[in-house]
This record gives sequence, structure tokens and C-alpha cells, in this order.
Amino acid sequence: MDDVWKVLAGNLAAVALIVSIWTHLSYRFYQLPPKLRCAGLGVTMGLAAIASMLLSVRFDVGVIFDLRLAIIESAAVFGGPGAALITAIMAAGFRFYLGGAGVAPGLTAIAIVFVLGSSLWFFAGKKPMNNAPSILSAAVLAGCLSIAVLALLPQADFQRAVDQVGLPIVVLNFATTAAIGFFLAYFRRFTLERDILHAALTQAPDYHYVKDLEHRFVVANLNVARHNGRARSSEMVGLTDYDLAPRERAEQLMAAEADVLRTGQALDHFEEFLIEDGKPPRWYSTSKVPLRNRQGDMVGLAGVTVDITEKKLLEQELRSSRNIMAQAMAEMSDGLAMFGPDGKIVFCNEQYRALFPKSAYARKDSAHITDIVRATVRNGERQNLPIDLDEEDIQAAAKTLFVDKDEVIPMADGRWLALRTRVTEDQHVLALVSDITAMKESELSLKSFAERMKGLAETDALTGLANRRSFDERLQREFEVAKQTGRPLSVLLIDVDRFKAYNDRYGHLAGDGCLKSVAGAIAAAARRSGDITARFGGEEFAVLLPNTDSDTAIAIGDKIRTSIRELGMLHEGSEYGLVTASLGATVFTRDSRLANPTELVARADLALYQAKDAGRDRVGFQRLADERVKKPA
Ligand code: GH3
Ligand code: MG
Ligand code: MG
Repeated sequence: MDDVWKVLAGNLAAVALIVSIWTHLSYRFYQLPPKLRCAGLGVTMGLAAIASMLLSVRFDVGVIFDLRLAIIESAAVFGGPGAALITAIMAAGFRFYLGGAGVAPGLTAIAIVFVLGSSLWFFAGKKPMNNAPSILSAAVLAGCLSIAVLALLPQADFQRAVDQVGLPIVVLNFATTAAIGFFLAYFRRFTLERDILHAALTQAPDYHYVKDLEHRFVVANLNVARHNGRARSSEMVGLTDYDLAPRERAEQLMAAEADVLRTGQALDHFEEFLIEDGKPPRWYSTSKVPLRNRQGDMVGLAGVTVDITEKKLLEQELRSSRNIMAQAMAEMSDGLAMFGPDGKIVFCNEQYRALFPKSAYARKDSAHITDIVRATVRNGERQNLPIDLDEEDIQAAAKTLFVDKDEVIPMADGRWLALRTRVTEDQHVLALVSDITAMKESELSLKSFAERMKGLAETDALTGLANRRSFDERLQREFEVAKQTGRPLSVLLIDVDRFKAYNDRYGHLAGDGCLKSVAGAIAAAARRSGDITARFGGEEFAVLLPNTDSDTAIAIGDKIRTSIRELGMLHEGSEYGLVTASLGATVFTRDSRLANPTELVARADLALYQAKDAGRDRVGFQRLADERVKKPA
């Protein structure tokens, strides 16, 4: 009986050996397509079945017991019906070849196991049984089948077989199936892990490799192989840098790796610019880390090299464009400063400092805007930031930095600066300062020129009084005001008496001098603010008296008349022997019902005519139909 156990255990060992050879082969030939792999498993199991039959327990002449049923079932449940069919055919063929009394029941048993095993495969969802419960159930089935098929023997042999070999047959068929199942499942998991690791390494986009302590490549991905002119990564295994690079370069690489292995310190992102034969120069960044086994002993190193040429080129481009920017900022004529969100200067050019000479010392990198404003105030540099500004005002002025604005700043030294501040999206502030003194000066002189021109256009050249055009404009305006407010508006017209005769006797130049004196007397007599004195034309003058009633107008008119007379200018052609003038006065009131100011002047002219008519040197007055003439004293 012991012999049966021994023989079947040896049988199991042979099966295990064959299956393990298969797993090694299948790992080696990993590129095989699934169908061929399945066939391979079938053939392996077939060979295992044959080996098992060769090492079988001889029960009777022509009747042998072995583990072929467990092997066929394993082929079916762990490899599928295809593999099982090959195994079954090989097993059946060999059993047939061996011949003997047991051929028929043996072949029948093979067929039964094949059918049941294949059914189980379909039952398990056409997938190899992989987990412990399913593997154990398959093993139990194998055990049961191995004893059940003994029933195929003649009745007498069956009982004897059950007694003599029943237990070892059941146990070892169970053990064989379980062993094959667990081994294949373990191997499948192991291959999957290796496949993932292999894929990760070989398909990684950069250059990955592992070297042993002698600097030999243990693993290298496809990129490393191709870079070194090899078609497959396996061709790299065992090579060193001496086989791949010129001696000097290899020595350099080895020295760096020796450092890593000696010190245990990783080489971190070591950058190199390499010019290799026939290839455009490129930048690489290499990291090498020492590898230790589970005991902590150094076993080699892992390296990764990344092609950083694109990154380097971008960096170079960025650097050069930054240089261009910096140069442009340094050479621009305006002052430029950039402030960070914290109010501190991030950057400013020389021109910016030069535009504020008194506070330039405070306008430097990292200076805070409050300190800059304080320095500006303390030195009285800006007209609109007086020297006595208190701390609260300084803080308030500093805060305005973070507001978009266009300012024109009058400086204490007479210069004008234009300051533009712009707040960027990320809360930085750009301040652009330009000296606009020349522009501002020409703007001011243009303005004063325009004012002078306007003055000239409105002034009478001989007398310096307002001219007729200006008088008409003012009259129109005051007329509108009077109409709206209801306040009275008075007009005086003044005409020098017998002036033709004056010219004739004393000449035109003297006439002009006389007109100047008369104008002076008029201006002196009507000097309330708002009174407008004008040369109306020739030797006629007009006075506009806003907010003045008739009595006051007449009084002022008389004052004018008196002061002309009191000039005491001799006029032998006049009945009075002196230069005198006649005046016409009128007043516009709310109920005058006049449509336009021309009528008002016409009314004053009428009054003047009446004064002339009444003997000259007097003031005539016109109010609607009513008329009065003030006689000379
Ligand atoms: P009446 O008392 O009626 O006003 O007599 P009149 O001689 O002043 O009368 P009229 O208005 O006819 O004469 C005005 C004269 O004033 C005519 C002109 O020679 C003289 N005249 C007008 N403008 C000027 C001027 O700018 N300079 C001088 N010298 N004379 C002027
Ligand atoms: Mg006249
Ligand atoms: Mg006159």
C-alpha cells in the first residue's frame, strides 16, 4: 500500500515539474497569441498525463492508476476546452498505445472527465478558475471523479481497487488539481504584476534603467535601447557605459554612479547639454537613486533621464524676452514703477526716480507707497501735497495708488508731471510718470494768448473801454437776466456836444485825446461792479447799468455829465465854451413789454435826441410815453 502512495506522490512531482517548466516557457515566450498559449498548456498537460501514465501504479495486467484524470480536468478548468481536448487526445492516444484490459474503461474515464471539466469551464464563465474556493471545488471534483470512474472496472476489480488504491487515488487527484490550480493562479498573478511593471518601465516616456553594482544594465526601457542603437530593451542587459559611449564619457558617467553607490545619496536632476554625433544638441536632466534590497544592502541603482530640451529652449526664450522688456523699460523716456498688491515697489526704472529728485531716495525696490508719499510731503516736492500734511492725510493719499487715474501734478519746482496709474487684474499697480512741463507751459501761454486776444477783440483801442460788439453781447445777456429776474436794467447813451466843431478847430489828434479824457470821466463815474462802459461808436458812449432803477440811472447820468464838464476842456465852438456831453437814459422794467434790447437802445437814443434838442449838456429820460429832461444846473 505504501508503494501506491509513493508512486502517486512521485507522479505528482513529475506533473509539478512539467507544469513548472511550462510556466517558465510561457513566461519566456510571452509574445505568443492566446490560442497558441492555450494549445501550449494543452500539450504540457498532455505530456504530464503521459508522464503520469509512465509512472503509474500497476494494479493488474493492463490496468494502471495515475493522475491523468486530475491533469485533464485541470487542463479544462484552468485552460479551457481547447487545451483540455489536446490533453485528452494525447492522454487517450498514449493510453491506447499502452493497451491492456484497462484501455476501454481508461478511455471512457478520459472522455467523462473531459466533458465534465469543459462543462465546468463554461459554468465558471469561460474563465480560468482563479480563486481558492473554485480551485478547491475543482480539486474535490477531481477526487470524486477519480474514485467514481473506478466503477467502470468489472465489479470484482472495482471493490478491490477501492480497497487498495481508493484513498491515495482520491487524495492525490485532489492534491494534483489543487496544486496545478494554485500554481497557475499564482503564476498568472505574478505574470500580471511583471507585465504591468514591464509595461510601466518600457513604455515610460523618458529614459528608465536599472543597473547593478558593476554598472551593468539590468533593465532598460525601449527609449534607452533605441538611444543606444539597440532594437530591443533586452539587448541592453549586461552592457555598461563602456560598451555604449566613448571612453571619456563612460568614465564620467561611471564616476557619477560610483558616487551614488558609495555615498547612498541620490543624484538629483543633474542637467547636461549633450552634443552627440550626427544629432542636434539636446538638454537632459538625470536623476539616479541607489537601490537597496529588503535587508538594506545596496544592490544597484535606478536612473531616469528626461529630455528637457523644449523646456530649456522655452526658458531661454523667456529670459531673452525678459531682457528685452527690462532694456525697454530702462531706456524709455518716461518713469515707470510697478507696485505689488502689498503697496511695495516691485520694479521701477531710473527715470522714475529722476522725475522725483527730492524723494528719489525713498523710491527704491521694496519701498512702501506710504513711505514714498511721506518723503514727498516732507520735502515739499508736490504742490498738491503740502508739507504740513498730517499722517492721516498721508495714509489717505497713499491709498489712492490703488485707483485707476490720470493726474496732472504741479511740482514745487515749477515742473508739471502727468501720472497715470492702472490697477492690473492681479492687484498690481503700474504707475507711468511723464514730464509734461513743456507741454503744460505752452498750454498756459496759449491760454493767456487766447485771453489777450479775446480782450483785444472786446476792447476799443482808443479809449480802452469795451467796444460796441462786446457792449451788444453784454446788453443781450443783461436783458435776458432782467427779463427773468424782473430787476430793472438801465442804459445811458452819451454823445459829445459839437464834436465836429471841436475836430475842425483843434484837429483830429486833439479830438482823439478829448475822447480818451471823456472815456476816463465816464469810467470813473460808473464804477459799481456790474456797470459796463463802452464806446458805442464815433464820439458816442454807452453805459449799461444792471439792477438800476430810473432815478439811480438819471443820477449816474448826471454824475457823468458833470464829470465831463468838470474836465474843463476848452471848446470854443460850443455854446458853453467847454467840452460837454448830452445823455439819453432809459430803463427796462418787468412791465416795459420790450421784445428785444435794440428797442431799449433806441429808446435811450430818443432820450439823447431830446437832450440835444433841449439845449445839450443834459440828461434826457424816456419811459414808455412819459418823458423827462433834466435841465443843467
Ligand atoms: P452834436 O452836438 O449835435 O452831437 O454835434 P456834433 O458835431 O457832435 O455832431 P456829429 O455827430 O455830426 O459829429 C460827430 C463828429 O465826431 C464827426 C466826426 O468827425 C467826429 N468823430 C467821430 N469819431 C471820431 C474819432 O474817432 N476821432 C475824432 N477826432 N473825431 C471823431
Ligand atoms: Mg454823434
Ligand atoms: Mg456829438
